[in-house]
Amino acid sequence: MTEKADLQSVLDRAAAGGRITPEEALDLYRDAPLHALGAAADAVRRRKYAGTEHIATYIIERNINYTNVCVTACKFCAFYAAPKDTAKGWTRDLDDILRRCAETVELGGTQIMFQGGHHPDYGVEYYEKHFAAIKKEFPQLVIHSLGASEVEHMARISKVPVEEAITRIHRAGLDSFAGAGAELLPERPRKAIAPLKESGERWLEIMEIAHKLGVESTSTMLMGTGETNAERIEHLRMIREVQDRTGGFRAFIPYTYQPENNHLKGRTQATLFEYLRMIAIARLFLDNVQHIQGSWLTTGKEVGQLSLHYGADDLGSIMLEENVVSSAGAKHRSNRLEIIDLIRKAGRVPAQRSTTYEHLVVHDDPANDPVDERVMSHISSTAIEGGTAHPELKLLASN
Ligand code: SF4
Repeated sequence: MTEKADLQSVLDRAAAGGRITPEEALDLYRDAPLHALGAAADAVRRRKYAGTEHIATYIIERNINYTNVCVTACKFCAFYAAPKDTAKGWTRDLDDILRRCAETVELGGTQIMFQGGHHPDYGVEYYEKHFAAIKKEFPQLVIHSLGASEVEHMARISKVPVEEAITRIHRAGLDSFAGAGAELLPERPRKAIAPLKESGERWLEIMEIAHKLGVESTSTMLMGTGETNAERIEHLRMIREVQDRTGGFRAFIPYTYQPENNHLKGRTQATLFEYLRMIAIARLFLDNVQHIQGSWLTTGKEVGQLSLHYGADDLGSIMLEENVVSSAGAKHRSNRLEIIDLIRKAGRVPAQRSTTYEHLVVHDDPANDPVDERVMSHISSTAIEGGTAHPELKLLASN
């Protein structure tokens, strides 16, 4: 264990770009003063973005939930319906999905995240058909979707190797994987919350295969379901090790568990301080991952704003539709002008980015700010509302 007096020297080394060990990361995560952790992480961010360190980015996207029917029954999930639960389960047809894509394009969205349950009938062919149809009508939309869990599931349904599944959905239109399903990668906490999901090792193995096939991804972490600090750092170590080999993880995105409407009774959420410490330690430990994303959706706008001072360079998406974490209790919502304002008040220049982090619009002059407040994140439950779109979206669709 690192002596308290040595913590600052480890922080100084990390801030100067030196690699830290998992043991040092754990000591810093547990014991370094919060402000010192944030200052070191911010120093790394500034150096990584020298020349554009004054900018913080966001993206406009839409989550499209194609079904909530799922055989995997993760205990933390408030979104899914078991296949035999016909009263709660739903699926969306292709016309509905294409209409949502059209609305996304019309509102200036550049990315869709196709997200849903592990439906017992959806193999590789389902995703090929849908991605090809989306790309045919909306070639400008980036399909940044799914993750290793969906790949494992669809390959099993279609009885093909995961390499073939990835190659086929990539050819059909998938641009990159969203890193879904990482949850907690170490075995103990993963089994406790998602006993039917593939192991963390397997999740990483599939991501590594994808990276080698030219399909990059982001990586995520679900915090606050009862995992230890050591298990959180182990999760980071597992990602860093794969990233050393592939370089295919574009970003790391931790988010906090939402406790409503699920089967994890008695678990606590990560505190906001723990979340900020994770943003900072990720920036210091994951020296081979370019982007660290702050999440305002599960932690609130102020914490999202603070994350920009703890190593985050990006605030993720203004989601035109989101139904998964909102089903579990995430209540925060925002529109584009609020996100721009929030980033500005954090002392940064906001910029709308693409999926691959190019700056599409840099909002360096408030006089030129966008005026369309309909670009608003919609937080509600499609499952509860029976699949209705946001009122603004409906208005737009009927105009
Ligand atoms: S998190 Fe995903 S895989 Fe797990 S139950 Fe929910 S929809 Fe299914």
